[in-house]
Amino acid sequence: MEKIKNIIILGSTGSIGTSALEVIENNPDKFKVTYLSTNTRIDLILEQAKKFRPRGIIITDDEAYKEVKSLKLDLEVYSKFDLQEIILRDDIDIVIAAMVGFAGLESTLEAVKSGKKIALANKETLVVAGHIITKIIKESGATIIPIDSEHSAILQCLVGENKSQIKKIILTASGGPFLNRDIEDFDTITINEALKHPNWKMGNKITIDSATMMNKGLEVIEAHWLFGMKKDQIDVIIHPQSIIHSMVEFVDGSIKAQLGIPDMKLPIQYALSYPERFSVSYSTMDFIKYSQLTFLEPDYKKFKCLALAYKSLELGGNYSVILNAANEIAVQKFLNNEIKFTQIPEIIEKSLEKFGDSKEPDINEIFEWDLRVREYLQKSNKVNYGIF
Ligand code: MG
Repeated sequence: MEKIKNIIILGSTGSIGTSALEVIENNPDKFKVTYLSTNTRIDLILEQAKKFRPRGIIITDDEAYKEVKSLKLDLEVYSKFDLQEIILRDDIDIVIAAMVGFAGLESTLEAVKSGKKIALANKETLVVAGHIITKIIKESGATIIPIDSEHSAILQCLVGENKSQIKKIILTASGGPFLNRDIEDFDTITINEALKHPNWKMGNKITIDSATMMNKGLEVIEAHWLFGMKKDQIDVIIHPQSIIHSMVEFVDGSIKAQLGIPDMKLPIQYALSYPERFSVSYSTMDFIKYSQLTFLEPDYKKFKCLALAYKSLELGGNYSVILNAANEIAVQKFLNNEIKFTQIPEIIEKSLEKFGDSKEPDINEIFEWDLRVREYLQKSNKVNYGIF
């Protein structure tokens, strides 16, 4: 019998983290949680710890860590400074990297260096440091299995195939809540409207990214690093039903697609079971219910973020770092009601113009560029976004 796999979930209190715990709960004979981590969501992680009995929990926020430490729980409580050492421990076979945004970079790097299997949901990590991560993987022998549904689909289409025979990959996108909204009305988009994704239930940051289609842009860059595809080999197509999760076209014109209901538990479980498949008890795809699958070309004027991401991939250098930092700040400002929806791509575009550099950054420079953009944009306010 296979040995039970021990798992650490980085970001266990987020949307992916909680779904990952469901997958683990459904497969008690295959997986066990040994560590959980959160930034600030103390109540939830303590609830999770009570249920899943990990050996320890990691609280990355300083204040939250002190608070939990003072509770004197019958459980190991670690801070972010312990993470580097914990990831190397023998009681971890798989690292689920499910933190949100750039904040996940440091711990993902540690996981990659450890040579372990990484189930990666944190796409921003590959967007900003794909060139470094792919290099470290070659040295450490780590494997990255994507959790992102599109990339999981591509991985599944590639099983048994020869990579040199791929013509292109086709990422599907739902188009988000504003697919059919007139571009003239984009200025009036509210936070609540943007947070209503038609198909997927996700955290706030990625839901806004889906509404601007920056999420697809980040996924284009993610696909570039994961599958070694050039910019021109990565297409995006709008597929509002989110049933085809992505496709691969081969040199002979044959196309493989992976289909399923939009439920993140599927790609999470595949990342954990890969290259095996485990059966599930919940309901799966009913073709009669989805009698029509439709496809459209993306509108790059309406969804400028997608065009900016392609541009950043093409320009290389530090462009994807700037793109990501500016996007994270702009999304936060939109969620804080400080800027309009249409200012998100504006801020990103101006940041690319101001900070973009063709020199490929090393790891320290990535942190420096990220901080520079954040500090610059945090200082700016509604009035001076126009004056860069
Ligand atoms: Mg995705």
